[in-house]
Amino acid sequence: MPADRSPDQPAAVPLCDIALQYRNHQDEIEAAVLGVLRSGQAILGPVVAAFEQEAADYCHATHALGCGSGTDALLLALHALDIGPGDEVILPPFTFFATVGSVTRVGATPVFVDVDPDTYNIDPALIEAKITPRTRAIMPVHLFGRCADMDAIWNIADRHGLYVIEDAAQSFGSDYRGRRCGTLGVVSCFSFYPSKNLGTLGDAGMVTTNNPDLHKKMAALRNHGSDVKYYHKYVGWNARIDAVHAAILKVKLPHVDAWIEGRRAAAGRYDAMIAAQGLDGFFERPVPNPSGLHTFNQYVVRVANGQRDALMKHLKAENVGCEVYYPLPLHQQECLTHLGHRAGDFPVSEAAAKSVLALPIFPEITEAQQTRVVDVCRQFTRQQSRQAA
Ligand SMILES: *Cc1c(COP(=O)(O)O)cnc(C)c1O
Repeated sequence: MPADRSPDQPAAVPLCDIALQYRNHQDEIEAAVLGVLRSGQAILGPVVAAFEQEAADYCHATHALGCGSGTDALLLALHALDIGPGDEVILPPFTFFATVGSVTRVGATPVFVDVDPDTYNIDPALIEAKITPRTRAIMPVHLFGRCADMDAIWNIADRHGLYVIEDAAQSFGSDYRGRRCGTLGVVSCFSFYPSKNLGTLGDAGMVTTNNPDLHKKMAALRNHGSDVKYYHKYVGWNARIDAVHAAILKVKLPHVDAWIEGRRAAAGRYDAMIAAQGLDGFFERPVPNPSGLHTFNQYVVRVANGQRDALMKHLKAENVGCEVYYPLPLHQQECLTHLGHRAGDFPVSEAAAKSVLALPIFPEITEAQQTRVVDVCRQFTRQQSRQAA
């Protein structure tokens, strides 16, 4: 027991418990890692190829390529589609920075479209107004494990001849009308950052595609643009996945469906507990998803009456993990001021940034842990109403 905790204090609840998942599969993972270390084949090789095949099969895609991170995956997709200076890419401003960072780093111009207040995903009704002759691609993000409104996005992309690149970093295993993430765009981009639905113990990512030419080009790009060693067809870079991470991911992949079920069960329990505790006026819970499997990479509530930051402080003081994804929309980031946006340009994203809060969720979270989370929230609302009285 940590020194700062007295015996009668309830146990801390982490936002995410990476070490627990590791302990649950420690023997298998360590054997796989040692296998790589002892083989001397640490760069690409058979373990990487085997993981790629299994991951492609899982996503129902014909090709998968491991790469260094989710950011590398986005960069590979953009480079493979020759998107660069003079081109525009449409994306939401309410997502992790890498989505816009990758577009900016290839020299293209990010064009933001606000999100839907119910799903936090790009609002298709606002896309067409932002299309210009320079637009090349739409990059929907399936935020928190819930797929974007793909029918509407595909329809717009078809009519305007645009690529769809899915940022599926948070939604490995999610599906949209029976189709898994990994086939919802011409290229799909995944991250295996430790806290994602499928996570390694370090950095890794993956691209999937059903297009053999793009697959071949991305395979070269991730390896300095070369098919044949020391002959460079493209200016690529080193975007390879480490064989050690491929080995870990290969061990973890067969468990991912059970983990997703664990996340979904936990989300269902939060829904019931929040309703039962009378917190439905205080929280707006995630809206049900009629169009496919929400994998709840995060369980995000909207907190009423500007009380989000005070609640967060209270949760942290009670050793309950929580996090704001994301506190500052991308159009307001310091490094993007040259785009000329200002506060008020994307009101749904800006309001979300001020009110959302992610509660602890991970496949192994227990009902007791969730009860503690909701109790602490309930405590907070009681204190607030006492102070108001
Ligand atoms: C995690 C994440 C990424 C980037 O992944 P890294 O592996 O950290 O580079 C990109 N987009 C979104 C939406 C993410 O959540």
